[in-house]
Amino acid sequence: MAEHQHTLLCRHWTQFPGDAENKAQRYAPPRQVDVLDLALDVTPDFKNRRVSGTATITFQTMLKPVETLRLDAYDLEIKKITSGPKIASWENTDRALLIRFEKPIPALRKGKISITYEAEPVKGLYFRTPELGYKKTDMHIWTQGETIEARHWFPCFDAPNEFFTSSITCHVPKGMTVLSNGRRAGEKIDPQTGLKAVTWMQEKPHVNYLISLVAGYFKKITEKHGDLSMSFWTPPSEFAEAANSFRETKQCMEFMEKEIGVPYPWAKYDQVCVQDFNWGGMENTSLSTLNASTLFSLETENLRSSQGLVAHELAHQWFGDLVTCKDWSHIWLNEGFATYYTHLFAGHKDGRDHMLYGLYRDMKSITGRSNDVVPMVNRKYDRPSDMFRKYGYMSYSKGSWILHMIRSTLGPDLFRKAVKTYLTRHRHGNVVTENLRTALEEVSGRTFDRMFDQYVYHAHHPELKISYSWDSKAKLAKLSVKQEQKVEGDVMLFELALPIRFKAGDRTIDRTIPLSKASEDFYFPLPAAPESVRIDPDLTVLAKTDFSPPIAMLHAQLADPKDVVGRLLAVEALGKRNDKTSVEKLKEALVKDTFYGVRLAASKALRGIDSEHAFEALVSSPRQKDARVRRQVLSDLGSFYKPAALAALKKSLQGEKNPAIRGSAIRSLAGFGDPGAAGLIRKALASSSYRHQLADAAVSALRTQDDPAEIENLLGVIRKDAGKFTSRGHGSALRGLAYLARNEDDKSAVRRFLIERCGHPNPRVKQAALDALGELGDPKAIATLEKFARGRDGSPERSKAENAIEKLRAGRKPVDDFKNLRQEVNELKKSNESLGKELDDLKKRMEAAYPEKPGKGKKKSD
Ligand SMILES: [Zn+2]
Repeated sequence: MAEHQHTLLCRHWTQFPGDAENKAQRYAPPRQVDVLDLALDVTPDFKNRRVSGTATITFQTMLKPVETLRLDAYDLEIKKITSGPKIASWENTDRALLIRFEKPIPALRKGKISITYEAEPVKGLYFRTPELGYKKTDMHIWTQGETIEARHWFPCFDAPNEFFTSSITCHVPKGMTVLSNGRRAGEKIDPQTGLKAVTWMQEKPHVNYLISLVAGYFKKITEKHGDLSMSFWTPPSEFAEAANSFRETKQCMEFMEKEIGVPYPWAKYDQVCVQDFNWGGMENTSLSTLNASTLFSLETENLRSSQGLVAHELAHQWFGDLVTCKDWSHIWLNEGFATYYTHLFAGHKDGRDHMLYGLYRDMKSITGRSNDVVPMVNRKYDRPSDMFRKYGYMSYSKGSWILHMIRSTLGPDLFRKAVKTYLTRHRHGNVVTENLRTALEEVSGRTFDRMFDQYVYHAHHPELKISYSWDSKAKLAKLSVKQEQKVEGDVMLFELALPIRFKAGDRTIDRTIPLSKASEDFYFPLPAAPESVRIDPDLTVLAKTDFSPPIAMLHAQLADPKDVVGRLLAVEALGKRNDKTSVEKLKEALVKDTFYGVRLAASKALRGIDSEHAFEALVSSPRQKDARVRRQVLSDLGSFYKPAALAALKKSLQGEKNPAIRGSAIRSLAGFGDPGAAGLIRKALASSSYRHQLADAAVSALRTQDDPAEIENLLGVIRKDAGKFTSRGHGSALRGLAYLARNEDDKSAVRRFLIERCGHPNPRVKQAALDALGELGDPKAIATLEKFARGRDGSPERSKAENAIEKLRAGRKPVDDFKNLRQEVNELKKSNESLGKELDDLKKRMEAAYPEKPGKGKKKSD
């Protein structure tokens, strides 16, 4: 899966029923039978948000006779079960379906069970219908299996350690499109119902969580890659921008096939954009689901792109789909590969610097974390979704880095051969980490025990503190290296080969130092004092490195056009100084560097220096052509609290056409408390733009301003323009409103408005309103929230309501309000006696707000 852009690519929060409290080790569940095929025949009821259907499971018993078969089934209403081997009885526990056969089915015998059922799923299958506030002409459903949601809409063996073929027949009104895994196998109209029945068959085995059904109104663009059909579908109202997100698909497919060395394994490749998806994307076999928020208009220039998402989900068609991790503890074999091949595609398409930049940023995000003490192959997670959220940085970025270290060691050709062996050997089957290690070792003749033990089965990474000195008499360079990671628990001392590069004149001298101790010194005879010393110059070792070369070396590094990582490091190091020369060097980098990432870093570094010189450097940097840098400079200028910064922001707003950059400037304006700025923010709030992005920016600016005088205006805008906001934007506006009103004495108008929004048809808006009531801090909302807290077990509304109630009960009033009152009382106490009356008044206010017994002195809620 992919998280939302700028957050994570691919997964969302799922409950693991029954074991949230159980912290035992996690393993793949046992299989009672070998599932051979699953055939679903389903009819979605769009109006009532229900589904009815029949699931037919063909299986073969294994070496043990089977008396009772257990299937995952979450709140399914089971109507009828028919079976090849006769059944004695069945029981529906609301979490599982237990089917008892008349006689135990002997070993190695085939059987078939058909289960007719209905469901009103809270997860797994999602409706996007007019009743929920979506456009009628865009009406559709989508499903999500990973990690364990499929059980909410059909009975199944819901774990990744089972491969089977599958088919779906879905009955929909005539004008609708049905999409699913594999090959389209037919379509017919039922004369009785008038519904269209479309059948899709996935004839190659895959796992349960990759089963997908998307049905509704869609439009498509189609392209071919040889004989392979590739389509890109969007709801009709989003179709105008479809081509922008589809455009890299063909090149990406060509690249993946060549780079991976195994042909694309499925019958077709479709991508479908759906409304309010829970993740950025999901790699169902031959049909990736994408969040419609990936769509963008060209006016945002290069600030938005679907390239990363498209590449990530496409890479999964091999890594995750053709071979699937046996259980969630090995999820890095799915997500790490998808992340790494996305970097490789960026390197292929946009140039090597882009790949290095991706790896560099991942490295910073991995090594910048605190409390990173859990091994990557981790069996102690509470629920499967933890492996995507809590430990997502490992599954995605660190997993990708492991592969990068291996590829750097083997070289691209040998790495490709090993990956091909790994995929071919395990195709349509499960993989665990050892399968990858074995393939690597067989093909290369090397051993990878140490690398896997250190980086995969143990936690963390080396933290290197390195110092350098030059002995001019002996012509010896000295490097002292300390491993500073805390060696305890699952974190060990690392043994690795660290590449070093010295540059002297036009000579480049590469050395490798073998690290194994907590502290070691290394000496290098060189012909002359080096102009630069680079640690891990090609970025091939995952480590946190603390190395501050002398300033002249930083300047040399910054001037090296072939060393993008060196330039990034130099910019960051210069950003920690505030002398004039450093500022000038940074300014030069901001204006002239050939790689946008270095220019971005230079802008950030100047912001960090926060001096008059740094400000001038930013303000005088000519208008940047690259929108990514232009936005960064503007945002960094906004962090200087001075009239000239405000003036620069206002000026740039005048000439700026890009709505995303305008939004960024609007956000920056908020910090200035300038009456003119307030006007611009109000104007943006009332404006129209693609996906209402400018108004979204204005909402976030209002939060920063935190001026209760804006409550009424915001409330009016949400009422008037609700239809223009995306679900997410609408939700942010509600939370923003609650935030602005949180310290008001009279919150009744906002409370009433939010309570009204709790009845909003759109589930995202409703959930945001429940959240907002928690944020507002008005205990009078508890009665309403309690109604939602009695909702269906496992429903998002219920958990939002419970959280909000908890917040309100814990605070009665928000913490900062309490602090403010306290402070006021203390200040008044210190001051003149003549203020006694006011003090009295304040005390009364406090007592009223915080009665000694909960509930005492509380007004009846309205
Ligand atoms: Zn993914």
